[in-house]
Amino acid sequence: MDVVGQSDIQDRPDIIARIFHIKVHAFITFLKEDKTFGEVDAYLYTIEFQKRGLPHCHTLLWVTSPFKIRDAEDVDKYITAELPDFASEPALYRMVTTCMLHGPCGLLNVRAPCMQDMKCTKHFPRPFVSSTTFDENGYVRYRRRQGSYHTLGNGITIDNGYVVPYNKCLCSRFDAHINVEYCGWNMMIKYLFKYISKGVDRVRFTLQRSEIDCATSSSTTSNAVNEIKEFLDGRYICPHEASWRILNFPIHERHPTVQVLAVHLEGMQTTIFKENARLDTIIDIPTFGVTTLTEWFRNNQADTRGVNLTYTDYPSIYRWDTTAKAWIHRAITTKRTNTTIGRLAYVHPTAGELFYLRILLSHQKGCRSFSDIKTVHGRTYSSFCDTCEVLGLTGDDREWLRAFDEAASWATAAELRSLF
Ligand SMILES: [Zn+2]
Repeated sequence: MDVVGQSDIQDRPDIIARIFHIKVHAFITFLKEDKTFGEVDAYLYTIEFQKRGLPHCHTLLWVTSPFKIRDAEDVDKYITAELPDFASEPALYRMVTTCMLHGPCGLLNVRAPCMQDMKCTKHFPRPFVSSTTFDENGYVRYRRRQGSYHTLGNGITIDNGYVVPYNKCLCSRFDAHINVEYCGWNMMIKYLFKYISKGVDRVRFTLQRSEIDCATSSSTTSNAVNEIKEFLDGRYICPHEASWRILNFPIHERHPTVQVLAVHLEGMQTTIFKENARLDTIIDIPTFGVTTLTEWFRNNQADTRGVNLTYTDYPSIYRWDTTAKAWIHRAITTKRTNTTIGRLAYVHPTAGELFYLRILLSHQKGCRSFSDIKTVHGRTYSSFCDTCEVLGLTGDDREWLRAFDEAASWATAAELRSLF
């Protein structure tokens, strides 16, 4: 019989995976049943594994209209970024001071792992704010009042600037680090891309011949190195993730009633269709299928003021009304202070026709239909690709150079590698 000594919990990724899976399940069930943030309309979560760290869960939660956060006071009902009062909430105080404090970093500990160039990469300690406010970009600055202190085991005294935003009820219920943030549209999009669809960790590695092999074969092989052939695309799987996958637990999950979650980046709208919704009721929604592009076609038929503009330039004199789902002509003031530019959702060159359509949208003007986009000097071509070629927008690697130039200004390192 093997005698197992006092093994570290880190040595049992299988147990960690099972427990975490149970906890995630309990967490989502609790959110739905307890209605901590109101009636849950939809949720989406993803499990992330860091190189050596424990699994964690990023969750996006949508609540039904009556529970939507409308002002800063509503935020305070759900999210706290201050130390609780020890006298009245001792258990919560213990929990928050154990699990919900960042760092310490900054001047209190310049060697903290989050510090870069003498600044915390997570922007702690946060400044004191007397009441919760929304800044000009729609981001929330949670209330962090001065005057509350907590002394850590190592003698360092920290204040409300180090508290990671939390929900009192969730913290008390799960006794775990649960960071809760209010997401406006901009933050939700960022969150969707940063965490929910981030993809897996990659590793770079090389395979080398042993010295003996090299010695025997050096006379016959040339020294030419083909870096492209030698590149090995590897991904890193930590023991916890391996256990998670062996146990067949889901990496992503979304609310079962959410069938389609379409995020239209341009209109910044989410369309959620319920699984039990009848097809005819969806189709009967007057704005169903109406997009900024289809309305550009429609507007060009009715309003000739914008026919000399490409789709990407259209926002310079029209603005998109998200509620009405229509392009509205801007009131032109004599003194224009800011220039408006249109932005097209990124399309990877391997997407084929969609990629060429995207190129044409920055070139063709006043189109009233998809076939107008494919029309050059009165002749309509069969594909967007052919049209691009006739217009001299592709060929000689031009589309690749264009794609790289464009991606260089905004793509993440991983996206650039994938593009390459
Ligand atoms: Zn920090």
